Amino acid sequence: MSIDILIIALGLGVAIGWLWARLSSAKYAAKLPKPYLEGLNLLLSEQPDKAIDIFIKLLAADNDNVETHFALGQLFRRRGEVDRAIRIHQHILARPQLDKSHRQLALLALGTDYLHAGVFDRAERVFQELSRSDSYRVESLQKLLHIYEQEHEWEKAIAVAETLIKFTQDPVACRVAHYYCELAQSPAHKANQQQREQLLKKAIAIYKTSARAALLLGDLYYQQEAYKQAIKQYLRLEELASPWLSEAYVGLQKTYMALGQAEKFYHLLQRRILQSSERMAVNLLADHINQSEGQIAASEFLLNQAKMHPQWIYIQKILDWRVQRDNAADVELKTLSELMGILGQHSIRYRCQHCGFSSHELHWFCPGCQHWDSIVPI
Ligand SMILES: [Zn+2]
Repeated sequence: MSIDILIIALGLGVAIGWLWARLSSAKYAAKLPKPYLEGLNLLLSEQPDKAIDIFIKLLAADNDNVETHFALGQLFRRRGEVDRAIRIHQHILARPQLDKSHRQLALLALGTDYLHAGVFDRAERVFQELSRSDSYRVESLQKLLHIYEQEHEWEKAIAVAETLIKFTQDPVACRVAHYYCELAQSPAHKANQQQREQLLKKAIAIYKTSARAALLLGDLYYQQEAYKQAIKQYLRLEELASPWLSEAYVGLQKTYMALGQAEKFYHLLQRRILQSSERMAVNLLADHINQSEGQIAASEFLLNQAKMHPQWIYIQKILDWRVQRDNAADVELKTLSELMGILGQHSIRYRCQHCGFSSHELHWFCPGCQHWDSIVPI
């Protein structure tokens, strides 16, 4: 926002706030008080700190203009001038005769200023106090949740979310499941398999469709050589029609092989390919055909898949195998194969359904729109 727009908006806010206060108190007057005009002049001449000094003196002298100062603080925050917003909101809070509703509103504004400034410890204290009020309990709990997510304070986030569930219809369960998963993956719990299992079970108990918890629990059972339990967790993703089943393929393959039942895994891949032509399933089945029947049969399988659903990885594999088979392959073919490999390293594997953020790496929390569970494999 430019300084001109700020001043116009502020001028209107001051005039409306002042007139409203006067009309409400039945004291009619013809013009704005002189100090307000001085403050506006200082803003016009880009001396906002001097202007704030004047407005703060007015605040101390006039009980009717507190809304105007809220508007001023909000405008400074929106301009990114958070220090000035904090100063104004602190002065509102310092007023000796401030009524309860204005005090709570000032706390909400000040806490939001601290959040914008990245001063999370002060914001946390403000929102903790406000979360005990009736008026802004839900807003405060949501802000606290945001702080604890940013700070990776997962136990505090769980406690706040469990309180928030009582007061709102927001779908918080999915977030709580992720907090439990984060705890299970944290260095503090990573070494203790029993604790990790308990945390992941809590994630599923609160949000039974948690794909992340199913994947992690499957991996954990595989490590414990509890193979049947591992397969059960991985296959829950198919029961849930989850797009995350493809992420379980590597775990499923290892587990079925450990049980000496690799064929069951390849039957699963064949079924998935018939249902949805999943890229990951095609890729893994091609590797299996390569090992069991050789490169020519595997290349033929991939070529047929590529004709129906073209994917760079199919072409790359066909080229790689061709170069490996043919020692006399020309330089052009070898270069083409290498270039396809480089392109593959940067290919998009995941996309956020909410904001479109795309990535080669897996994120459970979208860095683009700050949503949990909005990213899926593509
Ligand atoms: Zn997003």
